Amino acid sequence: MTELVVAVDGPAGSGKSSVSRRVAKELRFGYLDTGAMYRAVAWHALETGRDTADAEAVIAAWDDARIDLSLDPGDPWVRVGDRDVTTAIREPRVSAAVSGVARVVPVREAINERFRALMDECACEGIVVEGRDITTVVAPDAPVRVLLTADAEVRAARRSAELPVHQRDGVAEAIERRDASDGKVVDFLTPAEGVEVVDSTDLDFDQTVAAILALVHAAPGSTS
Ligand code: C5P
Repeated sequence: MTELVVAVDGPAGSGKSSVSRRVAKELRFGYLDTGAMYRAVAWHALETGRDTADAEAVIAAWDDARIDLSLDPGDPWVRVGDRDVTTAIREPRVSAAVSGVARVVPVREAINERFRALMDECACEGIVVEGRDITTVVAPDAPVRVLLTADAEVRAARRSAELPVHQRDGVAEAIERRDASDGKVVDFLTPAEGVEVVDSTDLDFDQTVAAILALVHAAPGSTS
């Protein structure tokens, strides 16, 4: 049973995955990358020739995708059946398809149940959970809730830098499209009541990690 949940939401390219992973490592907590689950469903839908714009096809893809993911921030991996898809789920074709998965409410509900089970099962003192709706839907009672933001150009530049050179064209437009589509499902740009905003536009990686660690240390009952 996990004692302390640190919920981190934010838009694409805000740095939430790399920052959350480092925060989890520093605290020796578990780490749940919820976007990886949505991406794995999208990857499986593409792999099985399904159209992610079709809700029924997405439900069928979720039903037969056997997805496993690591909660170890030092060794994050994602598997669908026997395939290791850790790298493949980051490809632009998956990023372009994933909002289709995110729009399907019954799949979101099933995925959220899975997240709550993973959080319960984690043999860890605490867990950092990051996504779009963690502070509001998945773990609204988490003692630490953070919305990590950054200006759009900064986010596009950071996301480009993570991709191989041949995949960098059109990243800014792709992020804008994905934010617009995701924003119809979950408002991840406005902090819910009690959620702390960390704007990383003018912060480097270490400063952003430090800002979140400070919030964890200040949390009621935190021994971390
Ligand atoms: O965080 P990442 O960019 O990997 O997320 C991929 C996609 O998964 C998002 O663009 C969004 O469509 C979906 N997602 C979501 N809710 C979450 C996490 C991700 O809808 N909690």
